[in-house]
Parts: sequence; C-alpha cells; structure tokens
Amino acid sequence: MTRTDPRRALPSVDAVVRAGRPSDAERDRFTRAAREVLTRARGLRATGGAEAFAEQARALLADRERRTLRRVLNATGVILQTNLGRAPLSPRALAAMADAAGAVSVEYDLAVGKRGERHGHAARVLADLARAEDAVVVNNNAAAVLLALAALATRKEVIVARGELVEIGGGFRIPDVLRRSGAKLVEVGTTNRTYARDYAHAIGERTGAILRVHASNFKLTGFVAHAEGRELAALAREHNVAFIHDLGSGTFLDTSRYGLGKELTVPEAVREGADVVTFSGDKLLGGPQAGIAVGRQTHIGALRTHPLMRALRPDKITIAGLIATLETYRDGLAEDELPVWRMIAASPSGIRGRAENVARALGASGLSAEVMETRSTVGGGSLPEETQDSFAVTLGGAPASRLAQALREADPPVVARIVDERVALDLRSVLPEDDEVLARAVGGALAKGGGDGPSHHQERPRSGARRPV
Ligand SMILES: *Cc1c(COP(=O)(O)O)cnc(C)c1O
Repeated sequence: MTRTDPRRALPSVDAVVRAGRPSDAERDRFTRAAREVLTRARGLRATGGAEAFAEQARALLADRERRTLRRVLNATGVILQTNLGRAPLSPRALAAMADAAGAVSVEYDLAVGKRGERHGHAARVLADLARAEDAVVVNNNAAAVLLALAALATRKEVIVARGELVEIGGGFRIPDVLRRSGAKLVEVGTTNRTYARDYAHAIGERTGAILRVHASNFKLTGFVAHAEGRELAALAREHNVAFIHDLGSGTFLDTSRYGLGKELTVPEAVREGADVVTFSGDKLLGGPQAGIAVGRQTHIGALRTHPLMRALRPDKITIAGLIATLETYRDGLAEDELPVWRMIAASPSGIRGRAENVARALGASGLSAEVMETRSTVGGGSLPEETQDSFAVTLGGAPASRLAQALREADPPVVARIVDERVALDLRSVLPEDDEVLARAVGGALAKGGGDGPSHHQERPRSGARRPV
C-alpha cells in the first residue's frame, strides 16, 4: 500500500478503553461500546483521538442504558391510558404496597400460626362492596374471563351475542379467548340486535354458559336491541348453565353523576343475577393491575380451585394495593383519594384555573402558551364516545410534532395530545399536585431548544396515543 490507510489513524480499542476509564463493573459493556464506535468510524473513514472516541462510547452506553420504563406526565386528557399504565394509584394503595414488599402474611394465617389462604385477603371486602357471595382475584381481567370460561364451560358451548364479539385491544378477542378456554362459541342475534329469545333458541344440552361482554371501546347506536341481564340470568338458571358477565371496567360509583353516560355498576350486575361478574383492577376501580371475579360461592369456588389458578394468581404487592383501594370505597373516600375519580370529578372551572396558572408560568419563561377549551375522555374501554369538558394549555412557536417530541424528552417525559396542529396539555388527566412539575418539565424541555433544532436521538412516533383500551 502506498497511500496512507485511514484505518491507521484510529486508536486501538484498548487505548479508547484506557481513555474512558470505565469502572470494573462497566468494563465489558464499555469495551463493546468502544469497539462499536471504532467500527462505525472505520465505515465512515472518520479519524480522531482516543479521548474523543471514549466520549462517543460513553454517550452510546448512556443512550443504550437509559431506562425505557419511566414515570411520565399524562397530559393526553385520556384518564385511563393503557399505553401509560392506566390508573395511577392512591397514596394509601402505594403505602400498602410498600408495606407488603417484605415478609408478609400472604399465605400464613396469623391467628393459628399455620399456612393460610392467599385468596382470602381481598375476597371479604370485595364481596361486601359488590354485594356478592364470594370473590377471587387474578392478574388481569383477560385472565378472569379465561379462568371463568375454563372453569365453567370447558368442552361446552358458550352463547354470546354477535354484537359482543369484540376485540378489546392488545389482541384480546373474545372469540379467541373462548376457543383457548376450551369452550365452543355459539353466536346469536345480529350485529345490532339480539333478543332473549335468540339465546333461548340456542340453549340446550351442550350449553355451559351464557357470556355477556361489555362492548368497551365502541358504541352501537341507532337500531339496536339487547337482552336484559335479568332475562339472561333467568334463562341461565332455568337451564342450569352459568351466566358470566364481563363488565370490562367495573365501577362502584355511578358515572352519570359526573356528566358521563350511565355504566352498570358491579353491585347492579350482581343484582341482575349473574353467577360471575368480571372486571379490571386498574380501570375505573382505580387500583393496581388485576382481574376480579365476584359472584356465587359455588362458581367462584370453581374458579379458585381450577388448575389454571396457580398460573394466574396475583402477587402479594398487587393484593395489598387492591385491598387498600377497596377500603377507600368502603370508607366512602374514593372521590377524594383515588386519582381516577379525582380526575373524573374535577370541575371544568377548577381545571381552567390550573391551566391559566401553568400557561402563565410558561409564558414567564418566554414560551408561547395559551389556554384552550377542550374535551377529555375516561378511556380504558369504559364509556366510549363519552367526553367531559376540560381545559388544555396549548403550545406554539414550533411545529406540533417537534414540540411533542421535545416534550417526550422532558424530565419527566410529558405525553401530550395534538389538536388542530397544536400541542395541547389537557390538565384533566394530570393531578393538581403535579401541575408545577409539569410546568417545570415543559419549560425545561422547550427552553433547552427543544422547539427548534433536531433532537439528538430518534424515537418512533407514538401512534395510538388515543387508543382507548
Ligand atoms: C379491558 C377489558 C378486558 C381486559 O381487561 P385487562 O384487565 O386489560 O386484562 C376484558 N374485557 C373487557 C370488556 C374489557 O373492557
């Protein structure tokens, strides 16, 4: 070779590692990063000293090791955002969960000093609140539905209205879950109208259960009809088959008191005569991720003793957080203490005042911020199409998509909504005690030049920020 080989201008991996002075614990990772930046430099025919490459390796490592699971501020105006972890927990639930993190009597009976029942702890307060005979808790509502079908209808037929064969999101499709449980789907009615007599015609020797499913993320309007829960309960009783009602969100408070549509509450679903009512712990209930089944003792007992139960059982921390959340209802404090209900119950005028304060704080740091009237949603597959009056702080000064990206890089990251080409921070889904953190995070991110100039790292655009469940 006569010409100078540009590769000769690159330092060795060893030299870069020496320059980077990694700790013993990070030496291997740092060495790999150093090798990577040198390989990249070779491809680009770039040159440089060991110090410069050590810095690049350090940056590469930091970027790669930044946590992807992070606390964020939910300014989307969707209170129960599945992509953002659904219900934020109350201080009481958090304290109970921290308390349960060490040794705890999860399967130990303190009264007799012997092995105890994991499933008993939450059952009493749940059954009391739901006015049901018994209750059991699993990992999520999808698991509760699967378990109910497996325990009560394996190798049997399950009758479902065509209009209720929904996909909840995340690939949870009722027909698929039914098949996986070992049950056989029998569809009745039409997409828009199903009557009790449709169920009556389909019921027979091979029937194991009637399943009713909350339509969750869509709403059927116009020429529609469905059978009353009471009629289905009576029919199921008459034929000695189970009536399973998947409520989805499952609320203990009357949503119509907050300018929203009326959702059947859990005690109402029980009173209709369902043998098993299932719902999520982290939707309108406002607790940790869990699936709850309440209903008749014999049916709940069949769920509790089913072999699948061992694979679906909740952990001690979930049980502790769930019990604390349920006790908040028992004490009549849900609207005061549970973030989900505080957000739903927040008055538009209160939200407006907070938005004005946040806009003023941002304006004082030189940003263009205005207050806009908007509409928020509950999300979480409850109350589709239902909205509440809300107020948002809109940001200007740069294209909305660039502002939104800068906000996602804020500390903590802020997830906003884009309305009419403007970034909107809807304060209904933010707790008042987080307003200051929000203003500081937004101010910090945009003052750093987040509004202009490209960001230093690529992120995939967040699609489906408004996906309901
Ligand atoms: C949300 C929902 C589910 C799934 O609940 P997870 O707790 O997310 O597993 C099942 N059924 C209905 C009707 C729902 O709305």
